[in-house]
Amino acid sequence: MQKMLIMFKPEDIDISAKDFISTYASYMEDVGIVGKGPDGYALYPSRTAPVREEHIEFFEEWVRLTDALGIHGVVGVDLYTDGWFARDPKYQTMNDKGVKMEHQICPNRKEFWQYGAEIVKEIGSYPVNEILLFGTGFIRDHFCFCERCRKEFAPLVDQEPNRLTYQFITENPEHHEKWHQWRSDKVHEGLGYLQEAATESDDTTGREQPLKLSVEVLLDPETGLSEGAKGEYGYDYARIGEITKNVLINLYPWSPVLPTKGSSEYDDLVESLYFVNEFTRRGGRASLFRWGVTTVEQLQELKALGKDVGIDRIVTTFHYPSDYSRRRESAIGNY
Ligand SMILES: [Zn+2]
Repeated sequence: MQKMLIMFKPEDIDISAKDFISTYASYMEDVGIVGKGPDGYALYPSRTAPVREEHIEFFEEWVRLTDALGIHGVVGVDLYTDGWFARDPKYQTMNDKGVKMEHQICPNRKEFWQYGAEIVKEIGSYPVNEILLFGTGFIRDHFCFCERCRKEFAPLVDQEPNRLTYQFITENPEHHEKWHQWRSDKVHEGLGYLQEAATESDDTTGREQPLKLSVEVLLDPETGLSEGAKGEYGYDYARIGEITKNVLINLYPWSPVLPTKGSSEYDDLVESLYFVNEFTRRGGRASLFRWGVTTVEQLQELKALGKDVGIDRIVTTFHYPSDYSRRRESAIGNY
């Protein structure tokens, strides 16, 4: 039996949270709402992040009702994609030419992990079951060359921080391997902070089931499907399995259509999802995710793929992120 979760934004729904939930409650086992969007604003009364006041009432009513009706409540959080926090250029991630990404925080920032951890605790104080963490990796292999990253990584490859370039790293396979390892360590150290916060919130609230953190991983042919994603974004699926146990596989975020069954591209996609078997065998849970699913055909397509790869949970949104074109450009543009 496949499960299906839709992540909503308040703008998706033109009636009150109460009317919506009470109308659809009998069809839903779980449902999601955005808690912090890519602009960095929270939809609940955060003491940490800036707040979209107009959505507080909706958010709180939504969460209260899903809990009261026994629906598995899910809240979405954009992590390193945070337009508000990135107002301060010192946190922006950049390539070796000094081109800064004005919407994206460098993942090598302990103070931002702490910021994220506070947000997890704040959301965890509500009766919700799960947080979907979006944007938890590096933008791409060409990042990050901010001052802090240069200073930390350059000595590992016997280079001067200000002379460190992407070319210098990639022309030596050992350097490149160190680069991947070092970046991956940052990504998972950050996740460790968030998981600790979730566990702390379990203790504070005494919730029966632990608050789940599902970590988005991007899987696109442009970035080498699941294997390529390790180097490009810094993911280590086994470590995610150890840290949060839940992974949310964002299918083809940079490509408009999924390959059709029977094509060689489809077979490649299925093969690249083999890691899910091991992930699940070790007690992890994987979900398939796709932005902008609006037709029944798209949904059937996802469900069929889920069946072929042994994933029984499908998560979708109606929309692509508001800053989608910028994200796509920064993920697969030329550097
Ligand atoms: Zn950096």
